[in-house]
Amino acid sequence: MGSVTDTANMGSVTDTTNTESGKKVTVIFVLGGPGSGKGTQCTNIVQNFGYTHLSAGDLLRAEIKSGSENGTMIQNMIKEGKIVPAEVTIKLLQKAIQESGNEKFLIDGFPRNEENRASFESIVRLLRIVPEIVLFFDCSEEEMEKRLLNRNQGREDDNIETIRKRFKVYMESSLPVIQYYGNLGKVRRIDAAKPIDVVFEEVKAIFEKVDA
Ligand code: UDP
Ligand code: MG
Repeated sequence: MGSVTDTANMGSVTDTTNTESGKKVTVIFVLGGPGSGKGTQCTNIVQNFGYTHLSAGDLLRAEIKSGSENGTMIQNMIKEGKIVPAEVTIKLLQKAIQESGNEKFLIDGFPRNEENRASFESIVRLLRIVPEIVLFFDCSEEEMEKRLLNRNQGREDDNIETIRKRFKVYMESSLPVIQYYGNLGKVRRIDAAKPIDVVFEEVKAIFEKVDA
């Protein structure tokens, strides 16, 4: 895993996309803890601002369902709340980017740790993809836990045991990524503990500025 050849291949795939379309690709990272409302708000953003929503978690779950060779590994990692190697996730993201035909993307739930971030950046640096801004859905653990236990989406990781592990991974590995982008002045923090429509008003105000 993580071989030089693989990385070179991934680079060329996106490179082709860019040269073919000749367009600038805009990426916005949507980050925040499990249950902070990333997916819900991404759906709202898509309807209003013409982005394509790419949930890294959804892509990984689809990969499990497809019966791919990585499926079992991904399934085990999700069950344990662990973070799948960037190589796997980035390939899925690149494929979805190519297939979409769009040039504006919300990448939801990725990058989740320093390894994810560094891999993504080493690939996109060569291309014209730069994360424009990072939306940070900030929510208390208490509220996130309540939402996760009530959402009933049949997810194997929405049980209290895995939720605790996900919170720990989020605090230890994902928050530093948000801090990294914060230091670059890219983070837009949103109070995500409020009701969906109130949160979306805050989100809308941010996007009106991005698109202006
Ligand atoms: N996951 C991962 N890499 C990613 C995104 C997700 O490994 O880039 C795995 C990880 O195990 C995570 C799980 O998928 O706990 C669920 O992620 P998702 O973003 O769907 O959960 P959410 O944060 O939205 O509750
Ligand atoms: Mg989600």
